[in-house]
Amino acid sequence: MKLAVIGAGVAGLAAAHRLRQTEPSIETVVWEKSRGVGGRAATRRVNGAVFDHGAQYIKGATPAIERLLRDELAHDTLVDIARPVWTFNAANQIAPGDPNQNAEPKWTYSDGLTRLAKELAQGLDIRLQTRVHHLAYRGHAYHLLDEQGSTLATVDAVLLTPPAPQTQAIIAASELPPLAQTTLVHELAKAAYRPCLTLTLGYHQPLRDRPFYALVNTDKQHPVSWLAYEQLKPGRATNSQQVLIGQMAPDWSHDHFEDELPALTTHIAELVSTLLDEDLRAPAWSDRQKWRYALPDSGADFQVLNAAQPNLFFAGDYTAGRGRVHQAIEQGWRVAQVIAHHAR
Ligand SMILES: Cc1cc2nc3c(=O)[nH]c(=O)nc-3n(C[C@H](O)[C@H](O)[C@H](O)COP(=O)(O)OP(=O)(O)OC[C@H]3O[C@@H](n4cnc5c(N)ncnc54)[C@H](O)[C@@H]3O)c2cc1C
Repeated sequence: MKLAVIGAGVAGLAAAHRLRQTEPSIETVVWEKSRGVGGRAATRRVNGAVFDHGAQYIKGATPAIERLLRDELAHDTLVDIARPVWTFNAANQIAPGDPNQNAEPKWTYSDGLTRLAKELAQGLDIRLQTRVHHLAYRGHAYHLLDEQGSTLATVDAVLLTPPAPQTQAIIAASELPPLAQTTLVHELAKAAYRPCLTLTLGYHQPLRDRPFYALVNTDKQHPVSWLAYEQLKPGRATNSQQVLIGQMAPDWSHDHFEDELPALTTHIAELVSTLLDEDLRAPAWSDRQKWRYALPDSGADFQVLNAAQPNLFFAGDYTAGRGRVHQAIEQGWRVAQVIAHHAR
């Protein structure tokens, strides 16, 4: 069987990685629109500082995920962020977080969370910078087509792993039996995502030492939803800089999505200064990431999607109904099992 996996986020990579181990006769190629692997488990480098501007860490891992991280994949740079997460509210009052939550490990990699995707990608055939625009199902084969309508590949089966709205756009533009297409578009529409503007602020001066690694807004009434000190990730190279990651609340992100970087930086640095009661209004540099589809608020049904059309498969955080790296990996494993069953 020839399989095309669309998307090299952790769900697509986990599926391809698992199939490579269990079903070596399946010829798998992963197609990814961006320049690197990892999707929303993303790491960036600016001015010699390494920072995770998407997912921050893996917490609440199941035993199977713990085994993957600690035994199966290379783990020389795997680290637990020991310092706790504290909370804040709309009035900028900071308080210690839940001790039970903080007792759990928060896994990341000293060289960036994207290391996880790079490890899963080992040995896979991955075509980067190639966007699959739509599919055409003709004579029991799937043609993968780009925006110009040129065929990228012809395969027996396809696994789609982009966020549901992007998957829905691919399906809506595809040539598929009408009933299956309608079912899929309808089911995928059930998964709604919230946006997240992420601003990274870099400082050359030392910042005040704090008893926490990050702050989370628990009353959901503050424009900032998350603020983290990236240099507190063990072993993280920041080129002697202090790096703050600010994730903005969904409504605020929506209203300011198209703001220019200088205006955003002034606005957010002011909010952060007030929150921390420390003058952080003049960062040396800043960097912005616009996540239009950051986290799913609702999911789509795995069974409905994967039964609608022969050899057309779906997985991602939205089939788990929650935006978590480890759950996206588990969805990748789950769909790998379904694909293996069909291939036999
Ligand atoms: C700001 C932010 C903070 C987060 N914090 C955490 C956290 O602390 N802990 C946690 O566990 N989770 C967190 N998450 C959620 C976590 O990152 C996601 O749930 C998980 O990474 C989703 O993986 P995925 O493979 O399902 O999707 P994605 O990572 O979105 O992968 C989909 C891939 O498909 C590619 N693609 C899309 N369209 C096409 C196309 N047409 N052709 C080819 N390729 C395509 C994309 O480029 C992408 O690489 C966070 C997410 C964000 C955005």
